[in-house]
Amino acid sequence: MPKKSAKTSKRTSTRKAAAAPSKNAATAESQLAEYRRKRDFSRTAEPAGGKAHAAKKLAFVIQKHAASHLHYDLRLELDGVMKSWAVPKGPSLDPTVKRLAMQVEDHPIEYNTFEGTIPKGEYGGGTVMLWDRGTYTYGGSDPTVDPVEGLRRGYQKGDFKFVLHGKRLQGSWVLVRTRRDDKGRAQWLLIKHRDEYAGEGSDVTAEHLTSVATRRTMEEIADGRSRVWHSNRTEGVDSGEEKRSAASTKSGNTQPALTSAYQRLMARRSR
Ligand code: MN
Repeated sequence: MPKKSAKTSKRTSTRKAAAAPSKNAATAESQLAEYRRKRDFSRTAEPAGGKAHAAKKLAFVIQKHAASHLHYDLRLELDGVMKSWAVPKGPSLDPTVKRLAMQVEDHPIEYNTFEGTIPKGEYGGGTVMLWDRGTYTYGGSDPTVDPVEGLRRGYQKGDFKFVLHGKRLQGSWVLVRTRRDDKGRAQWLLIKHRDEYAGEGSDVTAEHLTSVATRRTMEEIADGRSRVWHSNRTEGVDSGEEKRSAASTKSGNTQPALTSAYQRLMARRSR
């Protein structure tokens, strides 16, 4: 790689350093303290976490969670943990729609294969379905930044742009931090960017009512048809249903000129 300027070589060193945790990166252990404090692992089948090593590709998962209130938990891997948001209405493919996403405690990477029931009375008690999963990548516009560092900066700035490569969700998305509640919890908005995967008026959570991993409904999961979850035994179940939905969402709106919810939000924020 030719060295052109001091700026270029500085950027190169940032790129190398990004494989190891940067000064912005927190350790998985410190980030998982709150997650563990809230749970009694002798009573819940949820993982304690901390053993999984970060894969080269960053993972994402969405879990449909029928707790005291139904919501969708969006989890995006960053620096050894799953950054997590509870999205009451779930994701929307419509770029004019903003979905409230309340940040919750970081979860362990092992949580990405969890599907089943959390006992009543325990933290988050209720049924958990694996609704979508896959990998995700940096979605920002700066081609010179290391992708992981770009994700870290976006997350810290509260303008977190990413591209999902899931079974049911694909394309470019953004989480925009709006404010913190009185407990210091950050509130964000989840918005689909305009691209070939956007679809105005589409209702993606209603289109997919079964597990992306086991095809079970919430009722079947709640009935405990398979009490112990083994992600490696059900890989082959992913199939047909997703292909149809990918085709149907691709036919959505691709007009780039219209203002998206994201653009309106950012315009308001900069005022
Ligand atoms: Mn939840």
